[in-house]
Amino acid sequence: MNDFDYHGATGLADALQHGAQNGSAYIGGGTNLIDLMKAGVVSPARLIDLNRLGRTDGLADIVALADGGVRIGALARNSDIANHALIRQRYPLLSQALLAGASGQLRNQATAGGNLLQRTRCYYFYDTGFEACNKRAPGSGCAAREGFNRIHAILGASDACVATNPSDMSVALAALRATVRVRGLQGERVIAFGDFHRLPGDTPYLDSNLGQGEMITAIDLPPSPFAANCRYLKVRDRASYAFALVSVAAAVALRDGVVGDAALALGGVAHKPWRVPAAEQALIGRRLDDGAIQAAAGLALAGALPLKHNAFKIELARRAMARALKTAGGVA
Ligand code: SF4
Repeated sequence: MNDFDYHGATGLADALQHGAQNGSAYIGGGTNLIDLMKAGVVSPARLIDLNRLGRTDGLADIVALADGGVRIGALARNSDIANHALIRQRYPLLSQALLAGASGQLRNQATAGGNLLQRTRCYYFYDTGFEACNKRAPGSGCAAREGFNRIHAILGASDACVATNPSDMSVALAALRATVRVRGLQGERVIAFGDFHRLPGDTPYLDSNLGQGEMITAIDLPPSPFAANCRYLKVRDRASYAFALVSVAAAVALRDGVVGDAALALGGVAHKPWRVPAAEQALIGRRLDDGAIQAAAGLALAGALPLKHNAFKIELARRAMARALKTAGGVA
């Protein structure tokens, strides 16, 4: 690990001031960043520790909003979010997704903001013995494209990068149409969840649309009609402490057995949580039968392009969507 400076931020303004300097990186739980530093994948000159901002600026709070939604502070721990009464009652889909991620110890340490910003688990990204990785070393190539790519993307990939986003929480937040509040020295911005993460394109080293020195301060959830009928289904190689090969966040609002509203997002298949509004629309006004579900799944997977070792993900995603939707709707 390279030498680095450490600054314990005393408040939001102090954090932003130090975070804007070249070479700075914010640290909350550190469950991914420290691994990356140890492996030599990233080497920030300075860590700005945000943990005191929970006390000074309320950034670890989880509070009800006047419109019926909920605000999750960026420093709230994954375990605290998953087990919070407001989240369990109003957004059980988010609780399920969080509890499907990592391990108990990691969930106790990891923060909401860090969860959104965790990096891909592409093996070639972490192994600096492989020179070719456009995400780690821009312009060097992509070892995964011609290498072993079983865990990689089937949707939205580019010639430059076929990595996937590893966050379970983000898949549920995409389905629930969350927004992300970010702060920089220029002020506050609110980003729709679907616009927060990026596809790789020619710039796979950029995972999100956060600007230089900006930090996530909170995630806002709008009022949701999906509390009664939802399911986060994660398919992985081990029963716990493994990243998704494919995951599905599925929820429906039913009226007399007919879908009045639907939420559907996929994880493990792309560089960002994969939500296709047309797939949700295909369910609305229909009963949750095989025809409606297959129509939605087809739209969600439109344009899927497998690599040498991951064609199985297409059928896996189709079946996972069917199971998650049926379980969510109580028709399994
Ligand atoms: Fe690097 Fe992306 Fe290729 Fe993995 S898929 S080796 S992260 S460029």
